[in-house]
Amino acid sequence: MATSGITGVIEPKDVPLDYTVLKDPEQLHTPTVKVIAEEDESRTSRAVEFHGKKDMKVVNRPRPVITDPQDVVLKITTTCICGSDLHMYCGFMPGMKSGDVVGHEFMGIVEDVGPEVSNFKKGDRVVASGLIACFNCWACKEKSYSLCESTNPSKEMDKLYGDRTGGLYGYSHLTGGYQGGQAEYARVPLADNNLLKVPEGLRDEQVIFLSDILPTGWHANELARVGEGDNVAIWGAGPVGMMAATSALVRGANRVVMIDAIQYRLDFIKQKQPKVETINRKDKNVYEELRKLFPHGPDVAIEAAGLHYVQNALHKVEVTLGLETDTSEIINELIYSVRKGGRIGVVGDYIGYSNHFNFGAFMEKGLTMAGGQVYIQKYWPILLPKIESGEIDPTFVITHTLPLGEAPKGYQIFDDKVDGCIKVILKPEMDPGVVSPGGRSIKEVVRNTVSSVVTGAMGVISKGPAPTGPTQ
Ligand SMILES: [Zn+2]
Ligand SMILES: [Zn+2]
Repeated sequence: MATSGITGVIEPKDVPLDYTVLKDPEQLHTPTVKVIAEEDESRTSRAVEFHGKKDMKVVNRPRPVITDPQDVVLKITTTCICGSDLHMYCGFMPGMKSGDVVGHEFMGIVEDVGPEVSNFKKGDRVVASGLIACFNCWACKEKSYSLCESTNPSKEMDKLYGDRTGGLYGYSHLTGGYQGGQAEYARVPLADNNLLKVPEGLRDEQVIFLSDILPTGWHANELARVGEGDNVAIWGAGPVGMMAATSALVRGANRVVMIDAIQYRLDFIKQKQPKVETINRKDKNVYEELRKLFPHGPDVAIEAAGLHYVQNALHKVEVTLGLETDTSEIINELIYSVRKGGRIGVVGDYIGYSNHFNFGAFMEKGLTMAGGQVYIQKYWPILLPKIESGEIDPTFVITHTLPLGEAPKGYQIFDDKVDGCIKVILKPEMDPGVVSPGGRSIKEVVRNTVSSVVTGAMGVISKGPAPTGPTQ
């Protein structure tokens, strides 16, 4: 194990941007899927590429093709920008390379099918799981799909966390280096496990969020064991927080309170889900407001905000100086506010270390806390029927439907929190052929080449996948 001694541990800041961190597949305990996808140079697919901080471009790339017998290639009809895509956009995410295709929320029509795919055929309409699972390792057998052992060959992830978590599309080389789904075409590995067939009669908008944010909102409730009669407070009124609130109400929560610092997001959820109460943490003391509503505090606190949410000056300085990667101010607020013996669920993204975490308050108050990335495929059989019956209508979060070519604008308004933006969806069919002006800069080409040579990525590419195992 990488963490058998202190010297084996590295910090996120030690993983430079533009670092290719693929592990030699032969060194893995479990077989890995083939990450380096093959492409057809004679056909194109427009895709949203990362080119550096606040620089996303829509470019023509070679079209992905079937690389492994268990692959499917999708023609994408709808894809979304996720709050966690902003980690790359803002330059927080280590392990990105210029030219990586981003996006993990997408759906479309099956275009090509590998010979070992049995559940899908050309023409099927499907939603992709944003996280890639093998369904074969011990974690997948427990249905903890985001903890899959076989779909992420990153050796840096091993060092950061003592383990590797599962593969994710378009989310840096720390999560496998898979090309993302903000594109016209995308390759889906291990397709039988990682696609959901869409029943007749449901629109893209109704089912696209099964790719991530709806299961993630549900997962937050599972982690915190939300049930009948619970009072639930949710930090972060973004799309995931809103899906967590919707899920809490469906699960029979008594009262649901959302906390955010941006008034338009709170007004939006109040308008769409009138049962939800709101607190603006910018001008109110969250602890005091929650204690006015619940004398002992809420039963459950859900963290759907994540590391971006630095407000406190001390933490701003510490993050800037690299003394911590993630602020603890939100998680401490959850710990203070929740009732004694309460439950905390964390689905907001955190990367590494936090200072001033009040571990004493957490322990002495008898709290339980669980966190993690969502087990998407586990919740599909629960959530799809709720969409079909109308019990859950996740479409309410969509504020912007943009052509794929306007993805850079979508990122900008989502990150700047302007134009009433809650959730941006992108449609490649709305603007065929449109790409961003300007290509890759010389600086980016040089940086990528140096990175590949230094890290030996080319060697891994030529070796290909491990010779054994069902997921090759
Ligand atoms: Zn997402
Ligand atoms: Zn697995």
